[in-house]
Amino acid sequence: MQQVMIVTGGSRGIGAATARLGAAAGYRIGLTYRGNDAAAQAVVEEIERGGGVAIAVAADVGNEADIVRLFNTVDERLGPVTALVNNAGILERQMRVEGMDAERLSRILAVNVTGSILCAREAIRRMSTAHGGQGGAIVNLSSVAARLGAPNEYVDYAATKGAIDTFTVGLAKEVAAEGIRVNAVRPGIIYTDIHTSGGEPGRVDRLKETVPMKRGGQPEEVAQAILWLLSDTASYTTGTIIDVTGGR
Ligand code: NAP
Repeated sequence: MQQVMIVTGGSRGIGAATARLGAAAGYRIGLTYRGNDAAAQAVVEEIERGGGVAIAVAADVGNEADIVRLFNTVDERLGPVTALVNNAGILERQMRVEGMDAERLSRILAVNVTGSILCAREAIRRMSTAHGGQGGAIVNLSSVAARLGAPNEYVDYAATKGAIDTFTVGLAKEVAAEGIRVNAVRPGIIYTDIHTSGGEPGRVDRLKETVPMKRGGQPEEVAQAILWLLSDTASYTTGTIIDVTGGR
């Protein structure tokens, strides 16, 4: 069966690394992005140069209509999705909870939580054997922040990742008998641009001495765990959350 992977937020960072590795493993890749057209196109071209198949779809996972259009586009151009990586995620400027307003909280919940759940809904409608599908696998991107809470930085972001952990456990049980496995990966501090959104581009280097392995992680090290969870070698693994944190 043709393997088709959707990676939300595949234009940069962990999502781009997952798209590249997925293509190398033989998946046809549908990657999404919000605004950075050039970055998304560069990942597609790199995959094509390596002999793979990839398309980039501009779709805001904070918008339900965009999500529905994304899955319909992938149906038409690549075939029905067999692997979903709920990777797109945002954080906002570091601050204490006492400074946060409802607009900030709505934005982060819409992208990190609602977006992941709605993408999973679209995937299940295509994958579930109860709907005539062939089964599939979903990996959600959580964060070590779900365990540590991110005090004084972004407790709101940490709370969205706690929600992702719970969603992973519940959904895994809900669809386990329908051929779908659902797992999550909790990265630690990884060298990507996400820390710039928090207002501290050098955050990984500031914190790396607090990591038992004394270094930040690379996006590819997270992508390897995602690829394993999606693969048939993880055939009896569902409802699991893997920490990729250098021991943090
Ligand atoms: P990143 O470098 O900031 O990349 C984010 C990606 O998501 C980009 O492709 C971006 O697209 C896309 N995106 C952002 N908002 C979107 C939206 N509303 N709709 C669709 N796409 C959107 O992030 P990253 O560090 O690779 O993080 C990936 C995942 O890992 C996130 O869920 C994050 O929470 C989690 N994580 C990261 C770390 C870390 O240290 N880096 C640690 C723990 C967990 P554009 O290029 O168009 O903006």
